[in-house]
Amino acid sequence: MPKAHRGKTLKAMPSKGRGTCPLCGSTRIKLLYDVTAEDGSGTTKVCKRCKSKKA
Ligand SMILES: [Zn+2]
Repeated sequence: MPKAHRGKTLKAMPSKGRGTCPLCGSTRIKLLYDVTAEDGSGTTKVCKRCKSKKA
């Protein structure tokens, strides 16, 4: 899946891929990365800063 987080893929996402990161609370940041949710119920989107951290 090349460039999955660029161009029209982003535009097609809700809020064009932006939102508030649930981990660091940054607002209007791009939420591009799926990580496993803390309760293990599924995945949640996090920003680039949080993608490498464990949830
Ligand atoms: Zn974050």
